[in-house]
Amino acid sequence: MSEVCTAIVLAGGSGSRMQSKVPKQFMPLNGKPLIWYSLHAVEQSEIITQCVLVTGQDDVEYVKKEILEKYGLKKVIGVVVGGSERYASVWNGLKWLRENTPGSGNGYVFIHDGARPFLNEQILRDTYAAVLESKACVAAVPSKDTVKITDEEGFAVSTPRRNLVWNVQTPQVFEEQLIYEAYKTLEEKQQGPDGKQYFVTDDASVVELFTDQRVRMVNASYRNIKVTTPEDMLVAEAFLKE
Ligand code: C5P
Repeated sequence: MSEVCTAIVLAGGSGSRMQSKVPKQFMPLNGKPLIWYSLHAVEQSEIITQCVLVTGQDDVEYVKKEILEKYGLKKVIGVVVGGSERYASVWNGLKWLRENTPGSGNGYVFIHDGARPFLNEQILRDTYAAVLESKACVAAVPSKDTVKITDEEGFAVSTPRRNLVWNVQTPQVFEEQLIYEAYKTLEEKQQGPDGKQYFVTDDASVVELFTDQRVRMVNASYRNIKVTTPEDMLVAEAFLKE
């Protein structure tokens, strides 16, 4: 493999929906911090070359000592301070990568929520194969539920055909240059004179908004859940017991 593949693993954010003082990414799951699981998958991976970990300002020292050192995670080349929203954390990770690893610009970036502990080599392999072909792809699963688009008052406006609806996960994988330029445009637009608000909750939407590049869905796994609320922790524990 010639191209550099960088995982940007996100562990910023407060985890307010977890109703816990400890940010959710550090809560214990089967005796290990939640964030350990995706970092471990990255560490073991034959696809991923290196990793940038994005976390909160107050958590940098904790992460270095209690996670990276303690568990011997050697692929992490930088611990970067995140921003107030997910997209700001990603942008800080992308900028850090650009500034600190000259020459990595021709590679691929795997952006992954640290709160998704069930990342595995199969998902990394499948998304890597797709990005080589299509330049931009996301791990996703076909929606099991019918999805409705509503107005602001919660009344149904339309119902997309279910076979065209996907639940999007991470990793979201892109040519580094493509995703860097897309996020740079987002920043410029947000700081521009019209100050328009963009509702960006994943990386693919930045590419969809600001480039002509199509983003491919890669069928991943219904187990690749994001641990967001306390009941998700119970589901994650059940998966680990199997
Ligand atoms: O909050 P949400 O569930 O969208 O978070 C998805 C991922 O993004 C989590 O792994 C979280 O740690 C990360 N995040 C971040 N910086 C933020 C908000 C969330 O790195 N400001």
